[in-house]
Amino acid sequence: MKNLKSKKLIGYYGFPRRSTLRSARERFGRDLEFVDLDVALGAPDSRVIQTTTCRITANIVDNAIELSRNIVAIVADVGEGKCDRGRYAAFLLREAGFNVIESRFPPEEFEDRSLVYSTSEGSLAERVDRIMGTVIHPSSSVDQTRACSPTHGFWGVPPHDFRILDIFPPTTHIYGWTRCVEAGNPGDLEMECYVDKNVPTVFFTQSFCAKQDLAHHLAEKHDGLFVDCHRNVNNSILSKVEAFIKLS
Ligand code: SF4
Repeated sequence: MKNLKSKKLIGYYGFPRRSTLRSARERFGRDLEFVDLDVALGAPDSRVIQTTTCRITANIVDNAIELSRNIVAIVADVGEGKCDRGRYAAFLLREAGFNVIESRFPPEEFEDRSLVYSTSEGSLAERVDRIMGTVIHPSSSVDQTRACSPTHGFWGVPPHDFRILDIFPPTTHIYGWTRCVEAGNPGDLEMECYVDKNVPTVFFTQSFCAKQDLAHHLAEKHDGLFVDCHRNVNNSILSKVEAFIKLS
């Protein structure tokens, strides 16, 4: 957070259309840095968002308020690629005085890109991070990766607290919204619901997230583990996931 306070920034969240991100850069400055407001950047509680809102929406608003002197515009994913909370956050941020550019990624622009990080071997946290980097840099060079068969699955959005990802073995495949991001298909419900058969999968959501309904349904259907978590993960959540991974 500290190193961001010396720069002019364009904030964004979710997966905005590539063309909207491009035109924001052309309009506000090609050399401005994009900052993903979804992630935990260490902003203090702005008290704009009630406590029973998902932690990711709270991150978006808290980060924006904390960086308000630096942010020249926010490109907000308010379409089906995100969720209604993204749409409402855009409204609240506009009310708070931000220059908000709304984006809805239409299915005609789905990219069906190859899944590299979702299906390769390696640190789950690093692969999720790489996938989220493709929102701004879709053609960034792919590090050496090795495709593997999945021994386990992680389904969901990138968590607020990445420590939960460290428990998973390197042969974990990525499903759900994060996989849709790598494919360039945000809002593709069919892809979001896809998991490989007979792969023990953890269906993760932040607490108070609309995707809990999906995660719960899919966990029942595929005999997986449904886990939700509000702020930082605690030992009981970590132990539950660890036990599921070990015993399956
Ligand atoms: S955690 Fe769920 S409700 Fe919150 S912003 Fe992400 S998709 Fe939306």
